[in-house]
Amino acid sequence: MTTYNIAIDGPAGAGKSTIARKAAEKLGFIYVDTGAMYRAMALYLLRKGIDRNDEKAIEAACREMEISLQYCDNVQQVLLNGENVSGLIRTEEVSSMTSSISVYGPVRRKLLELQRELARTRNVIMDGRDIGTCVLPDAQTKIYLTASSHVRALRRFKELEEKGQMCNLEEIEQDIIERDYRDMHRDIAPLKQAADALVIDSSQMTIGQVVEAILEAAGKRGLEDKG
Ligand code: C5P
Repeated sequence: MTTYNIAIDGPAGAGKSTIARKAAEKLGFIYVDTGAMYRAMALYLLRKGIDRNDEKAIEAACREMEISLQYCDNVQQVLLNGENVSGLIRTEEVSSMTSSISVYGPVRRKLLELQRELARTRNVIMDGRDIGTCVLPDAQTKIYLTASSHVRALRRFKELEEKGQMCNLEEIEQDIIERDYRDMHRDIAPLKQAADALVIDSSQMTIGQVVEAILEAAGKRGLEDKG
């Protein structure tokens, strides 16, 4: 069976997950959030007290962990050694640990096959940092979704405020800038735009407009032909 794959890459807070989830719903595709898989690995390392700079210990820990996905009512759940950790991986501590440990080869290799297998067997919208460039180089539609760091920080600020969490806009923007820098400058699978990706800057766009732009791009790249 040939599947149809849509790859969405971009920096933190560009709206990838919200948009990918909505587009997947419209298309009847499954949404694969690869960031959640890296986050589950980071959570494991934090729980074990492993230092983010200790590459040897991280490599050994990779052999002890099993990451898998489950879908409940089409919502992705990430399992770490069988435990559903989806509700525990969205903290700032986990975000920062994740971007530090995702530079290591053993961490990336652990997830690559699982991600490719999902795309081989299902129609997916997969988001991350290296999907169009490395995980699914043959994806029929590739999107590079971005927005200014200020807009991205503001979105995150509002999200935290709504949850009643105290936060500081400048600190959030600084964190985002540092995370982008690490993601874009690592040696293995850095965040960059695939040559054949459509670039969408969502700074001045609504969620609905971005979803429409993605569906239109997929339509131009043969999606209707699948019937
Ligand atoms: O997308 P999300 O913010 O959940 O990703 C968390 C971190 O996981 C990113 O900052 C990045 O370091 C890492 N990541 C990655 N490759 C992916 C997805 C996420 O390196 N495909």
